[in-house]
Amino acid sequence: MEINDTFDTDMDLLASGSVAHTWEGSFILAGFGGMWTNSYEAEHHLSFHPSETEPVCWSPMGLASGWSTAFFGSPVITIDPLCVGKGDDHCEWHIQSGTVWEDKARPYLKAYQPFFDRT
Ligand SMILES: [Zn+2]
Repeated sequence: MEINDTFDTDMDLLASGSVAHTWEGSFILAGFGGMWTNSYEAEHHLSFHPSETEPVCWSPMGLASGWSTAFFGSPVITIDPLCVGKGDDHCEWHIQSGTVWEDKARPYLKAYQPFFDRT
């Protein structure tokens, strides 16, 4: 049995990544963007460090990017322009193809490249 046999549609399979986060109580799916509530990573960061100028929720950004990239077979990048770790009142994420992000995703795409070079 393959994993895709478990889901009725490919969209159900793709959305299952966000469902896993929901079970942890930290993720609300809203189209191609959403909100992370009660981000443990932002909370933990602020308990030891001052507010940053960049988002600090690397784990959920990485999980969402990796899950979606594996699903589509090409780089998909998640970035949270609003983040509690940089003083915003909530974390908000956007997910889209790495080529659509243009310069903002360049460092992430560079980090992904060795993975795609191996496949
Ligand atoms: Zn955040």
